[in-house]
Amino acid sequence: MPISDHVAAVVPQAVQEAVAEVRTRIAEARARGGHGQDVTLVAVTKTHGPDAVEAAFACGVTDVGENRVQEAESKMAQVTVPVRWHLIGHLQRNKAKQALRFSLVHGMDSERLAVALHDEAAKAGRTLDVLLQVNVSGEASKSGVAPHDVPALADRLHALSALRVRGVMTMAPFDAAEGLLRDVFAGARALRATLQAAGHSAEWLSMGMSGDYEIAVEEGATHVRLGTVLFGSRT
Ligand SMILES: *Cc1c(COP(=O)(O)O)cnc(C)c1O
Repeated sequence: MPISDHVAAVVPQAVQEAVAEVRTRIAEARARGGHGQDVTLVAVTKTHGPDAVEAAFACGVTDVGENRVQEAESKMAQVTVPVRWHLIGHLQRNKAKQALRFSLVHGMDSERLAVALHDEAAKAGRTLDVLLQVNVSGEASKSGVAPHDVPALADRLHALSALRVRGVMTMAPFDAAEGLLRDVFAGARALRATLQAAGHSAEWLSMGMSGDYEIAVEEGATHVRLGTVLFGSRT
């Protein structure tokens, strides 16, 4: 498997140990949280080579996340194992067509992007699974729909029939105190309920990264997006 020189190779044995540890922690957090949800581990392979995808797959991880379309496409071309690709990062509207290559788009963060994704999926005669990214914390630096805009948007999304709104994605503030993390994650859970009440299937909650995934799972996360804790630091 060729990997470019500037990408550090992952150590399969280390990935295996990290995946085992994370799975244990997820199971424990799930039991503590009491939401009873299934939790999908999305291994975030951005900045790593295709060997990271292969190493994760060897541990039974079937879902991988990338935040840039171009980097993901290059890895898709090199990886032979059958993983589901998740697009977790901010997506520009002019890349909406490439989003069709992913099983799930986590970063649908505006109505304009929703329309663009719908149009591409409709053109291709298919549906696309998406999560509505919400900016629960209200940080200016974060993408996402403002919570107070979700109810009206939920209604308008019904017109975009090629999109299947499978739930909510959010990012918590980095290094926040536990109380704030819980507020953000519970807020995302409430917005998922808003989508459900509006008639969307919206069964999923994508939240939790290396620094906060146990709290996210306690608060009901169905998808955790983990990079550093599996593959080591990216810098
Ligand atoms: C990079 C990234 C992650 C993974 O972050 P870690 O802290 O390395 O686990 C999760 N979600 C998104 C949207 C990301 O861009």
